[in-house]
Amino acid sequence: MAILEQLTSQQAIDLENKYGAHNYHPLPVVLSRGKGVYVWDVEEKRYYDFLSAYSAVNQGHCHPKIVKAMTDQAQRLTLTSRAFYNDMLGRYEKYVTETFGFDKLLPMNTGAEAVETALKICRKWAYEKKKISENEAQIIVCENNFHGRTTTIISFSNDPIARKNFGPYTDGFIKIEYDNLEALEAALKSNKNVAGFLVEPIQGEAGVYVPTEGYLNKAKALCEKYGVLFIADEVQTGIARTGKMLAVDHENVKPDILILGKALSGGAYPVSAVLADDDVMGVIRPGNHGSTFGGNPIAAAVGMAALEVVKEENLAENAFELGELFRSELNKFIPTSDLVNSVRGKGLLNAILVNDTEDSSTAWDICLALKENGLLAKPTHGNIIRFAPPLVMNREQLMDCVSIIIKTLSEFKK
Ligand SMILES: *Cc1c(COP(=O)(O)O)cnc(C)c1O
Repeated sequence: MAILEQLTSQQAIDLENKYGAHNYHPLPVVLSRGKGVYVWDVEEKRYYDFLSAYSAVNQGHCHPKIVKAMTDQAQRLTLTSRAFYNDMLGRYEKYVTETFGFDKLLPMNTGAEAVETALKICRKWAYEKKKISENEAQIIVCENNFHGRTTTIISFSNDPIARKNFGPYTDGFIKIEYDNLEALEAALKSNKNVAGFLVEPIQGEAGVYVPTEGYLNKAKALCEKYGVLFIADEVQTGIARTGKMLAVDHENVKPDILILGKALSGGAYPVSAVLADDDVMGVIRPGNHGSTFGGNPIAAAVGMAALEVVKEENLAENAFELGELFRSELNKFIPTSDLVNSVRGKGLLNAILVNDTEDSSTAWDICLALKENGLLAKPTHGNIIRFAPPLVMNREQLMDCVSIIIKTLSEFKK
């Protein structure tokens, strides 16, 4: 079969089912092109993308500036490895560190790798700067976290599906309740070997769980008080998604270690990064850590273009305003429906809570109905549906989406 032969949706689904590992359960839609806030399936039906590849496509599908940066660079130089310098990486590092206000950047490719990198930096800092005895460092994490899929990261997950039968697990993590400052202080107080606190400013995968206002600010203050690093995983919440460049900006918090991924790529190419100041990043020396592809010239060109687009097109402000509009429109509808309990979120990272048990198929069935009506979203954790469109959406398109969602929910029969 020639690669470019036109497939029907069913043929494409059958191929994935037969030849691909079954590690996802996709909605039955087969996409073949995208532009801005829209994607088209192989039968040319158009949809609003309300997932944005888990917030990796904040800048919209196939953004011309990002595609151009990527294809121009791809014709000049693609990969050197870090055994040599390249003429793009330094420019990119300067641009990103200046954008976010850190001394240094360590380039990786995926979110999980960047989280792993942050954990390694934090531990090394603890031994070399905080003088914790070797192999004793502990990192505090939160219940219902999502930080990726590596063996160490799933070691401190409490999602049985992500974790079971992948042991033995990595030691050195203390799990506390999210959005609970007393639990954080108790863990810090009772253990002198704590090196860091790893937290998502909003728990995205857990179902867009927004912590109490002031939580991040006070958690950072507690970390300072006890001399541990505050590590913000902004892989999903960062790059304008929540209505500010970073979600921690809502509380004017500067993390000791910042983890970025997803939309740092503009949805075009895997790009992730860890940022920190010299006193922390300085613990990493040649040979300590690396990645063959991390910091490659295409990633550097794409990452810079992705951030430029966010700034030039005021995507943070747009996400903030459209997010307010979205929640207020849905809040008008929700009291009239017994299908949805509430809407929550920040900026354009939102979720509705479906009024049914976590193991019911209602949220999935609603997503199938939304798909029929031209909007793609996916349940997260059973009865929660996440809504995260590209941030290049305009007001008119958002109102169109609101009417699709309300129409679908109104007509929906369990
Ligand atoms: C998606 C995500 C990751 C993992 O990113 P990958 O690129 O899939 O490895 C890590 N942390 C958070 C908060 C995420 O949402």
